[in-house]
Amino acid sequence: DLLIVTIDGPAGVGKSTMAKQLARHLSIPYLDTGAMFRSVAWKLGEGSWEWDEGRIQAELDTFEYALSGIGEDSVLSLNGTPIGNEIRTEEVGMWASNVATLPVVRSFLKKAQQDLGARFSLVAEGRDMGTVIFPDAPHKFFLDATVDERAHRRFKQLQAMNKPADLNELKEQIAKRDHQDRNRAVAPLKAADDATTIDTTDMNKEQVFVALKEGVAC
Ligand code: C5P
Repeated sequence: DLLIVTIDGPAGVGKSTMAKQLARHLSIPYLDTGAMFRSVAWKLGEGSWEWDEGRIQAELDTFEYALSGIGEDSVLSLNGTPIGNEIRTEEVGMWASNVATLPVVRSFLKKAQQDLGARFSLVAEGRDMGTVIFPDAPHKFFLDATVDERAHRRFKQLQAMNKPADLNELKEQIAKRDHQDRNRAVAPLKAADDATTIDTTDMNKEQVFVALKEGVAC
């Protein structure tokens, strides 16, 4: 039997870190659905969110995602190539948020995500995993934290990847992206009714991990 655990929440809250760790603990892959939206935005390019739907659909029809590996070694590939760090900037994050408002993109990725969920046990992280993509998942989490704390976390993460970043600018960008993600018409960012919400603002990674681990154990 396949197991699906969902982790949703706003930008920079630490979903990927926790999803990797929890997936390792469960010996299953993790699925970074933000990377799917980012890769679409990256491939289609800046301004693509203003194209007509037919043109976007034609591009999406050439996209195929594959997943392999377990825990932090999970690899998500697009058309045979692992998705790399080039998508990991706030600029591409905003592009992703823009394409993520489009029903044509959401329904394409919904099918891709559900197809993966039908083949693998997953820790699936994103914005609508518990609400829309895997509504029947037995374990759902919503991680939250203040925008200041999340900007800090993202700042440290970008530094670790040797990407230059400005803390105040990051804070503005994250706030703007969250606003768009929370207020879009289709699949807005919100906790599922049956999700466990964890305010991680004053928690360290170990504490969040323990909370998740205990959550899936019952
Ligand atoms: O999580 P990450 O920052 O990589 O996500 C990038 C963007 O992709 C988000 O700001 C959001 O607009 C979009 N997204 C989404 N639904 C998901 C995952 C990401 O709309 N399940």
